[in-house]
Amino acid sequence: MLNNPTINSTISLPKTEFDTLLAALRELGYQTIGPRVRDESIIYTHIEKLSDLPQGYTSKQGPATFRLVKSNHRRYFDVIPGAQSWKQFLFPPRTHLFTVEKVERWDIQPNAEKPPRYAFIGVRGCELAAIEIQDRAFLRADFHDPVYRARREGLFILAVNCLHPAGTCFCASMGTGPKVQGGYDLCLTELEDTFLIEIGSELGRDVISRCQYEPASGFLQSAAAKGLERAAGDMGRHLSLDDLPSLLTDNLELEHWDEVGKRCLSCANCTQVCPTCFCWDATDHTDLLAHSTRRERVWDSCFNPQYSYVFGGNTRPTIKSRYRQWLTHKLGAWKEQYDTFGCTGCGRCITWCPVGIDLTEEIAALRKEAQA
Ligand code: SF4
Ligand code: SF4
Repeated sequence: MLNNPTINSTISLPKTEFDTLLAALRELGYQTIGPRVRDESIIYTHIEKLSDLPQGYTSKQGPATFRLVKSNHRRYFDVIPGAQSWKQFLFPPRTHLFTVEKVERWDIQPNAEKPPRYAFIGVRGCELAAIEIQDRAFLRADFHDPVYRARREGLFILAVNCLHPAGTCFCASMGTGPKVQGGYDLCLTELEDTFLIEIGSELGRDVISRCQYEPASGFLQSAAAKGLERAAGDMGRHLSLDDLPSLLTDNLELEHWDEVGKRCLSCANCTQVCPTCFCWDATDHTDLLAHSTRRERVWDSCFNPQYSYVFGGNTRPTIKSRYRQWLTHKLGAWKEQYDTFGCTGCGRCITWCPVGIDLTEEIAALRKEAQA
C-alpha cells in the first residue's frame, strides 16, 4: 500500500478490497446505493458488498427492447442499467413538502425529515452529466430547490468509466462519455482483476486511504485507456449535433412531426426514465374534515395533456404538439435556457419507449426533410 494518495492520482484497488471501500463509506454515514439484478432487469438500490452487484451480466438494448443477459465474464460493472436512474434519489418521484394544520389558526409545518446521505456506486458518464444538468435547474444562483440541494450536498459519487456501451447508447455524440468527464469523488475503471480508481476529491482521498491499495502500473492505465477508446467506437447510436438546436426551433411545421405524432402514445415513459427531465406537479391531500392538508410534489410530464392546460384551454392538445415540445426542448431550447443540451445520450428513452421511437432517428428524419 502507498502512503497518502493524492487528488487526481490513480491507484489500483484489488477487487477483494471493494467491500472495505463500501464499509468505509457506511462508517462515514452514507447509504451505499448501486445496481442490482431484480425482476430480470437492473435497479438502483441499497448494496452492502461487491457480490450484491450484477457480476457477469450485460444488457442487450434496442428500441423497445431490454434483455438482461448472463455471460461468462466475471466483471461487475459491465451491464448498462435499466429504466431507473439516480434521479429518483435526488429528485424523488413523490416528496412531502409541508403540511397545513388547523389548530386554533392555520399552521404550516415543513417536512422536517432529515435528508438521506447517499453514496452512489457506479455512476456512468452520461448519468453524472445528467445530475449536473439537473443541478442547473434546481441549484440556480437566484433560486434553489431545498429538497434537491440537501440531498445533492450530502452526496458521494463513485463514478464508473463505461467499457461496454449498449445498443441505444450515444454518449460519445453528446460528449458525456464513455469516459466520465469529472464531478466525482472517485472514478473507477474495471479491469479483469482490479479496479483502477482516479481520486477526484478530498473525500474520495479519505475513503481510499482506508483501503489496501496498490500503485496503478502504466500497463493497467494503458489497458483502461484502450478499453475506453474501443467503447467510444462501439456506441449503438450516433447523433449529429451540427445544426442543433436551430434544426428543431426553425422547423416546427415539418411533416415528420405529424408522422411521429401518429406513432407516439403520449405514455410519458420517455420522460419518466430520462435522467434529466424535471417536470413536476404539486398535489394537495386533505383530510375529510379539511383540518389538515398535506402538499406533495410528484413527477409530471410534458406528455400529460393536463400539464399544458392553462386557463381557457390546452396549449398542446395533440400528441404531435407534445412530442414536438419534448424534443425541441431537450435538443433545442434547453441549450439557450441552460447552456447545455437536455440529453446526455443515455438511450433510456429509446429502450423504454413501448413503440420504439428513437430520437436519433427522428432527428435524422427531420434533418432530411428540412434539407430537401
Ligand atoms: S433524452 Fe433520452 S437519451 Fe437523452 S438523456 Fe433523456 S432518456 Fe437519455
Ligand atoms: S415517445 Fe414513446 S415513450 Fe415517449 S410518450 Fe411517446 S410513446 Fe411514450
